[in-house]
Amino acid sequence: DRIISANLMMEDQTAELSLRPRYLNEYIGQNQVKENLKIYIEAAKMRKEALDHVLLYGPPGLGKTTLANIIANELGVNLRTTSGPAIERPGDLAALLTNLQEGDVLFIDEIHRLHRTVEEVMYPAMEDFALDIMIGKGPSARSVRLDLPPFTLIGATTRAGLLSAPLRDRFGVISRLEFYTTDELAYIVSRNADIMEIEIVGDAAEEIALRSRGTPRIANRLLKRVRDFAQVAGDGIIHSELAAEALKRLQIDPRGLDEIDHKMLKAMIHSFRGGPVGLDTIAATIGEESQTIEDVYEPYLLQIGLLQRTPRGRMVTPAAYAHLGIPMPTDSR
Ligand code: ADP
Repeated sequence: DRIISANLMMEDQTAELSLRPRYLNEYIGQNQVKENLKIYIEAAKMRKEALDHVLLYGPPGLGKTTLANIIANELGVNLRTTSGPAIERPGDLAALLTNLQEGDVLFIDEIHRLHRTVEEVMYPAMEDFALDIMIGKGPSARSVRLDLPPFTLIGATTRAGLLSAPLRDRFGVISRLEFYTTDELAYIVSRNADIMEIEIVGDAAEEIALRSRGTPRIANRLLKRVRDFAQVAGDGIIHSELAAEALKRLQIDPRGLDEIDHKMLKAMIHSFRGGPVGLDTIAATIGEESQTIEDVYEPYLLQIGLLQRTPRGRMVTPAAYAHLGIPMPTDSR
């Protein structure tokens, strides 16, 4: 697995539990989203009502699950966590919903992967806090309506556009999470080093932040790898040179690109004259799934301006040529 993959890996899990901020004031960055949520949460508490359903979208590792936990904490309610593909039948969803207490939060990760039949049960549940259940079969079948306690659904997905319109429309709050700035990531790295009782000095936190692809999950993972390096090859203290050396050994370049990013950009340059080239073609060339490239790898490259989307496909930018140290062809575009 790629160390810069923003997807959750086995090794992240214990760290994620202890490093995860628990309240809004510990949650770094995403200021717009935070400000809005603070108001909605306050208002819901004043009215003693369930918070409106919230859809959080953005690339993996930016803090959607964390935010769902925080919302439940701030509301002082229970959180149930599941994922779209894990709810196989309408009955599974019914079981989850009927077990909620008033005001509870149900968090569904990868909500775009809900089964169609489950999604249809979700509509009245979200809108009217009701479950329509079919009893019996054939001509004697009838539908019975069950009341549910008012609850808050928090859905997470990589792109809002992956959701069907009827599902998307039932969310009162739709928030997009952005990549974090280097300063924000450096702050997260320092804070987590404190929690992990590691000494980190000078610009080391920034060295790690710069290579974290705007993503806290990656920052946390790199911090752990650099710590290993500091303990084995150094004096246990993470300073700038040690961090830079460790990250170089992990084959992550100064902007957080690894060999697969390099392979992709170089393939686009050498085989397709820098593009435009279709996503599926790129995927086939480097042996990755199109959807993975689109949701996980490409957003950061677009964000830092190494890649560009055009109606005819992806294009490598002059900044990418410069970053890779490849001279730009003069006649190619
Ligand atoms: P997602 O659900 O979007 O994939 P997570 O919520 O699981 O991402 O976040 C991944 C890790 O990144 C968490 O364990 C948490 O420690 C860290 N993290 C995410 N957002 C923040 C933040 N705003 N401040 C500090 N740490 C964060």
